[in-house]
Amino acid sequence: MLGFSLSDDHLAVEKMVREFAGQEIAPRIRELDQAGEFDRSIPDKMAELGLMGICIPEEYGGAGMDYVSLGLACEELEYVDTSLRVILSVHVGLNCLTLLAWGSEEQKANYLVPQARGEKLATYGLTEPAAGSDAVGIQSTARKTGEDYILNGDKVWISLADVADHFITFAWTDPEKKRKRDHTGLSAFIIERNMPGFRSSTIHGKLGIRAGNTGMFSMEEMRVPGKNLLGEEGEGFKIAMFALEQGRYTVAAGATGLIRACRDASVRYALQREAFGGPIAERQLVKEMIAEMEADYQISRLLWLRSGWLKNQGRRNTRETSLAKWISTVASEKAASNAVQIHGANGYSSDYPVERYYRNCKGAVIYEGTREIHKLMQADYVLGFRSDRPTRRSLPKWEKT
Ligand SMILES: Cc1cc2nc3c(=O)[nH]c(=O)nc-3n(C[C@H](O)[C@H](O)[C@H](O)COP(=O)(O)OP(=O)(O)OC[C@H]3O[C@@H](n4cnc5c(N)ncnc54)[C@H](O)[C@@H]3O)c2cc1C
Repeated sequence: MLGFSLSDDHLAVEKMVREFAGQEIAPRIRELDQAGEFDRSIPDKMAELGLMGICIPEEYGGAGMDYVSLGLACEELEYVDTSLRVILSVHVGLNCLTLLAWGSEEQKANYLVPQARGEKLATYGLTEPAAGSDAVGIQSTARKTGEDYILNGDKVWISLADVADHFITFAWTDPEKKRKRDHTGLSAFIIERNMPGFRSSTIHGKLGIRAGNTGMFSMEEMRVPGKNLLGEEGEGFKIAMFALEQGRYTVAAGATGLIRACRDASVRYALQREAFGGPIAERQLVKEMIAEMEADYQISRLLWLRSGWLKNQGRRNTRETSLAKWISTVASEKAASNAVQIHGANGYSSDYPVERYYRNCKGAVIYEGTREIHKLMQADYVLGFRSDRPTRRSLPKWEKT
């Protein structure tokens, strides 16, 4: 079953997303980035192409494609702008795929189906003012009253927070376990923007991903029906980590697209810019930077494709996806820095796209597990301090319908 060629379906998805992002978004991405505003019509257009439910089975309103197709779409979207890929990361990766694996049939009908069709926009809120990497440090609480839960807490740095309709979020249902920092006191909930007690706002002044929405939301005495508990009470930590595994996959594939964008912009510039009597492309130190972009692009692509291949088979891929996410995001940071370097002073200006790539690359080195968290994970696997049990819940195996 080992092979290195993409199927005709894969090539068709790649072409479709490349054309959409290249023709419809690329011509106005600089303007959107400078305005610092999220264009709500973009996910609607992505929905028309089936992207908002790309790898969700058709019975749940999706396009029924495989997990590799999701990666290919992310690579093509981030080739144009990180903010486009973030839409798929949070809507499909963190939210829809988590509902697919953990949701009840009623939850799938009420939330997954309209999300996969692109009628509703969804995201994932774990991070809080006092806790990001250390998920057990969150402070939100969920108090059971009769059949319902009352949620209180604040979430920050949430992609699409101010525009999404549906959210998967996390709160402590067992305060005793919170004090002991026991993972089993944490629960996951599906919440909606229109639930009384929900408020959101946008974060302004971000370094990058300015054409995307990043914000915060608060839950104040917010009544959530018991049927919106995702999984069992106490399974929140497992669900949070499961979701991150899907999100990380999309981030890895997207960062690969960003490296390719840096490479292509650098090649274009190096061939036409002259210094010391010839194009800078002929200078060995410039070639070195371009060679490293090419190597990092190929390495990153192989790593995320391996994760996608494992996902298609319904196999656990926590270790492989963590490695792909770490290597590709760090490589995208290096590629963006060197792309600016190759452009000299012009690279320091928003007249050239590499300035935007340089600002956009950093977020992915922070979210969905920082560089340091992934290094720790990889060391722990090798040292034998951590292992992946194949029995833990995985995505459903992909089957062509
Ligand atoms: C643009 C953007 C979008 C985001 N979108 C979302 C979203 O949609 N949903 C969501 O829930 N969150 C989101 N986040 C939040 C993101 O997941 C967190 O920022 C991330 O988990 C890191 O948490 P923190 O910022 O609290 O940093 P901290 O956890 O406080 O870490 C600070 C520094 O300490 C280091 N550190 C922490 N612990 C260790 C350790 N044990 N060993 C070594 N070093 C360590 C970290 O690597 C980092 O360098 C987003 C963030 C950004 C920037």
